[in-house]
Amino acid sequence: MGHASTRTVTLTGLSAHLIDIDADTHAGAGAAPGDAGLHVVGLPELSVWPARARIRAAITNGAPPWPDTPVTVSVTPALPVYNAAADLALAVAALAAAGLIPPERITGRVFLGELALDGQIRPIRGVLPMVTAAVRAGISTVVVPAACAGEAAQVPGAVVIPATRLADVVDDLRHGTLRNHHDHGPEVAPSSPFAVDLADVRGNEAARRALEVCAAGGHHLFLSGDGPATMLAERLPGILPPLTDQAARQVAEIHSLAGRPGRAPGVTPPLSAPHHTSTSAAIFGSVAGNRPGAVSLAHRGVLHLADAPEFTRPVLDGLCRPLDSGQVHLTGLGRSVRYPARFTLVLDARPCPCPEGQDCACIPEVRRHYRARLT
Ligand SMILES: [Zn+2]
Repeated sequence: MGHASTRTVTLTGLSAHLIDIDADTHAGAGAAPGDAGLHVVGLPELSVWPARARIRAAITNGAPPWPDTPVTVSVTPALPVYNAAADLALAVAALAAAGLIPPERITGRVFLGELALDGQIRPIRGVLPMVTAAVRAGISTVVVPAACAGEAAQVPGAVVIPATRLADVVDDLRHGTLRNHHDHGPEVAPSSPFAVDLADVRGNEAARRALEVCAAGGHHLFLSGDGPATMLAERLPGILPPLTDQAARQVAEIHSLAGRPGRAPGVTPPLSAPHHTSTSAAIFGSVAGNRPGAVSLAHRGVLHLADAPEFTRPVLDGLCRPLDSGQVHLTGLGRSVRYPARFTLVLDARPCPCPEGQDCACIPEVRRHYRARLT
């Protein structure tokens, strides 16, 4: 009977938890070659089913043949929901228990990555908080999807091993040739100063003055009329105080979890400007996918709602919670997550619902009604 253990990381909101993966083969079980099962304990059956199929297919389509003995993989602590980022850890643990990888090569490492049916390792969201948690727990060597290597390498102290295909990872683990990622990857730009500057805006003295007051005092801002609202809102982050290191790290982790690691703005406060057709999930986030929304991408920066009266009622009303508490709290599927969302709100509204450039014949009542949507 073979045994192997390794680790992976799972996220609830932005909180990362290390997960132990233990795999055992059952001696004497006489299944036909390639036909033996993968059993997973510590996860709800429904969420495991697709993962099991994915892992079996990925192994069959590239790595060594599936072991002849059934393998049981246990996940501790038990998880309420499976995250596909654990696929790679489950696969290497199963293969090591079956004797196809030396078990000692997978202990003391964290494996992160979702498997495709053909054995490719797909990128995952949230690599930054996951790798940060692994390093903090004393495990510095992390195997991550190649597409996420640049992001993982931003974590001080991390020894990052990029992985493209399960077969390559298995090969390298067998021969002890896993190689570190030394190139910090141009795909994740560090702090880039904002390309736009308030000094570019000519005229509009009153609006520029309002922006400066808003930045200095941390006030929210309402821009009314036909002025260049978007041009002004885009320039607000550039005059806000730069983020502290700690705030910049938190902002980068939120952007990593949202799957937009390259958008993290370094020390310049972020700008998030969702379109008025955005769904509530796009604005506030979704508990099902553990994905933060536009209000959290604005954390420590600016949330700009252009044509604010056009946003749906649930979105406009829903803004009260983060404005009060600095976070969003989402519940569903028996879970509850919180995402930080402390931002400076910039709303702008045209005087009436007529499209820009169209001659307006709105009566005062229509204009009043349009504006009243924002109260
Ligand atoms: Zn009008």
